Order: sequence, then structure tokens, then C-alpha cells
Amino acid sequence: MSKIPYKIYLEENEMPKEWYNVRADMKKKPAPILHPGTLKPVTVEDLTPIFCEELAKQELDDTTPYIEIPEEIRNFYRMYRPSPLVRAYCLEEKLQTPAHIYYKFEGNNTSGSHKLNSAIAQAYYAKKQGLKGVTTETGAGQWGTALSMACSYFGLDCQVYMVKCSYEQKPFRREVMRTYGAQVTPSPSMNTNVGRKINAEFPGTTGSLGCAISEAVEAATTQEGYRYVLGSVLSQVLLHQSVIGLETSTALKKYGIKADTIIGCAGGGSNLGGLISPFVGEMLRGEANYEIIAVEPASCPSLTRGKYAYDFCDTGKVCPLAKMYTLGSSFIPSANHAGGLRYHGMSSIVSELYDQGLIKARSVEQTSVFEAATTFARVEGILPAPESSHAIKVAIDEALKCKETGEEKNIVFGLTGTGYFDMYAYKNYNDGTMSDYIPTDAELEKYLSTLPKVD
Ligand SMILES: *Cc1c(COP(=O)(O)O)cnc(C)c1O
Repeated sequence: MSKIPYKIYLEENEMPKEWYNVRADMKKKPAPILHPGTLKPVTVEDLTPIFCEELAKQELDDTTPYIEIPEEIRNFYRMYRPSPLVRAYCLEEKLQTPAHIYYKFEGNNTSGSHKLNSAIAQAYYAKKQGLKGVTTETGAGQWGTALSMACSYFGLDCQVYMVKCSYEQKPFRREVMRTYGAQVTPSPSMNTNVGRKINAEFPGTTGSLGCAISEAVEAATTQEGYRYVLGSVLSQVLLHQSVIGLETSTALKKYGIKADTIIGCAGGGSNLGGLISPFVGEMLRGEANYEIIAVEPASCPSLTRGKYAYDFCDTGKVCPLAKMYTLGSSFIPSANHAGGLRYHGMSSIVSELYDQGLIKARSVEQTSVFEAATTFARVEGILPAPESSHAIKVAIDEALKCKETGEEKNIVFGLTGTGYFDMYAYKNYNDGTMSDYIPTDAELEKYLSTLPKVD
């Protein structure tokens, strides 16, 4: 076997032509999503006033294993994919570990993260349906940026409700979106009923993701020719993100590498779900075994300390309910939390896989995440997003364990993006003013006690 290159790329003819829908291979499927009014499983017809028709179908498709990636989307993917699978030789050297570490780097596009993989698909289906535009929310700004790029490519209007504190803290994110032609509105705004109500109830509030979602949904349903799109959590998003895992799997096979441990950070679960999908598929079909670890912040621990129950996907309770590991839809991480991955719930697919014991979860504190990020940046060159650095932290921990045991494990992790717009958080870390916070059981119970009674 030839020496494994620093970066493993794929040829154009090795690129995926179909997304992989892991639900098709799950014997026990994720629980159906429920209509917020009737609490009955939603139908495609229930979803189409909010979502594009083709995306609504993908959302509810539990049975089709492979779904063709339309040529127009594959053409866009060609501009920035394949993303490299990098052998972290320098990190291995730094850690003096016998483990082989690989990372799949999704930050090589202007939006700086994996979110573009789904943004372009969602914009494509909106365009194909003849819509004028789409609305969405963005927290840290990666999703809004990715969607702005995708919409400008297909000539769609893009309206982004950006959580007010990020809007103010990340003016450059906002300008990137405006450069791609998006309208960016700080949320809560005075444009929507939900926004006006929240502003009246909580004057001076700096907003939340859940509130921005409610505003974006209202904006979509009250304008002719608009639909709402979402960058994480949904099963359709995991489907599009399977391109990450499919490329990874092909790249590993090319060099005869069998992954032992696969690690991903988990906010809403889309990059993790996409990365692991083909590997979990092999596990579900009894073809191979992998250790899979989802990594989340100790200050927003939905998998490790949440409940597996039906909950609202948004604070405003206008979106369908999903059965998922959740901290409660009113949960907001403590004010010192800087590392992203702040969503209260988790993809219903990832939740079900976790419940079935196919994946493990670990929570990590933010100072240790930034320490890992710094180590990584200094040896591998890339300045990682704080979200991605959760996966780096656990990859390093696992590699150090191999040093103890002498195991030559193959560790693969998802490096979801770059952190250039997160320099306030890096500044806090560099100044030594970053702190950790782990919520108490009593605090979590306060939010969990408000879960809707569905089961
Ligand atoms: C949005 C984002 C995440 C978390 O979202 P998932 O849906 O859990 O993948 C992770 N990393 C980066 C860089 C992101 O932008």
C-alpha cells in the first residue's frame, strides 16, 4: 500500500451521484413528526404550505435508500467539492500517538461550513417549484451565509432573520449575506406578529434561535411565493449532508483504510448524521462495526442529559413536534456559552440511533474545546470553528488513549468549518476570561417539566 497522502481527494467520477437515506435501513424508524395543532403525524399536504413540495416529500420518506442528486446541484457541488479527507500527520506527531487521525474538512467554501451542502439543495427545489424566495433564521450566521450563496446562484430572494445579539456581534457575517443579496433582519423584529409580541413582552431582548424560527415561518406563510427553509435538525438536511459521509467512505476505501472510531460535533445533528450515515448503514445491514461518538457542549447537553420525548422544534411552537433528545424548547444555554451547538433538541434520526445504542455521546466543556482548537490550529494550520472543535477535542482524547494502549486505531472526525467570525470567543479564551458552566439537574428539570404531553 502506497503511503497515504496528506489529503485524499476524489476524482469527479468518484463523486456521489445519489444521497443516502439511512432511514431506509433502520428497522425501527425515527418516530413520525406531529402536526402542532392536531398532534397527528404530518402528511406531505400538511407540510407544503411551509416547506417546498419536494423537500416535504424527502422529509417524510423513510423507505427510499438512494435519492438522485439532481445534475444542477452536482454542478454546484463541483465548485467546492469533493472536500478533502486530510490525514492529520502533524497532529499525530504533536500528540505522539500511534493512532491514525483523519478529518473531513467542510470549511473550504465562502460560507465556511458544511451548511452549503443542504442550502444549495433547498434553494434548487424552491427554484424548481417556481417560488420567488425563501425565509430562514440564522444564529451564529453560517446557515444564513450558506443560504444567501445558494439563493443568489439560483436567483431567489432570501430573507434571513438573524438572532439580534449575533446581528450586533457579527456585523461582517451580516455583510457577507448582504453581499450575496440577502435581506437580513435582526430578530425579534417588528415585521411579524410573533416578533412584535416578543418585543412587547420582553423589551430589549437580544433574541433566540427559537424566536427567529417562529418569525421566519410567519414571514414565509404570509408572503405569496415564499417557503421556509431550515439548515439543521430536519431529516431532509441529514439526507443532503450524507454527501459528507459518502465521500469519506469512498476516500477511505480508495486507500484500504477501515475507520475504527468516527467522531462528529452535534448541534442539531446534521453534519454528524451526514458523516455517519453510510457507516451506520453498514452497521444496520450487519456488514461492519464502528464506534461512533457525538460530541456536544456540557452547557447544552441534549443527548447526554436530555429526555427522549416529543417536543416543539421552536420556542414559538409553530413548527411540527419531533420525538428527539431535548432539553425543552424554552431552554437557552447560559450567557457565557460561546461555542455554538446551542439548539435545545436533536435530529430525530440521530436521536433514534442513539436510543438504539448505535452511537455514543459525550459532552465537553468549552475551555477544553478552545484548548483543543488552539492545539489543532497551531499544528494543522486551519483555524477551526468552535462547533467543529468539539469533535477535535474528543478526537485528541481518543488519540491520547491510544498512546496509553499502543493501539493503532483509525480515528475519523468531521471538521465542519472555519472560525474566522468567532474571534470574540477566541479572544475570551486567549485573554483567559472564558469560563465553563454545567447546568444543574434542577435547572434542566425546570425546562424539561414543560415538555408537551404527547406520548
Ligand atoms: C451549524 C454548524 C454546526 C452544527 O450543526 P449540525 O446540524 O449539528 O451539524 C457545526 N459546525 C459548524 C461549522 C456549523 O456551522
